[in-house]
Amino acid sequence: MIGMRREKPDKNKILNFLRESSGTPYCDDCLSLETGVSSSDRVYRICRREWGKGKIVRGWGGKCAKCGKQKILNYVPERERSPIVVNQPVFLRNNF
Ligand SMILES: [Zn+2]
Repeated sequence: MIGMRREKPDKNKILNFLRESSGTPYCDDCLSLETGVSSSDRVYRICRREWGKGKIVRGWGGKCAKCGKQKILNYVPERERSPIVVNQPVFLRNNF
């Protein structure tokens, strides 16, 4: 459980950032840069967990909005969807 207390604010930074730019996909590395949460390993862990909870969408299928690389991306849909739909690791939109 060590580290949980420090991960919570980081989790909120990431979720807030993704919500503010909803519909826009970012890779773990760019999320780390944009939110100031280091390292990308921590971003990875947080995003995996939030994806598991249905808070964000995570998966392959496009390019990062910032670095343009094809990587695993994270985003929040523009409209809240049911957790079941959000959990699908597939990009349903064709905006990238
Ligand atoms: Zn990126």
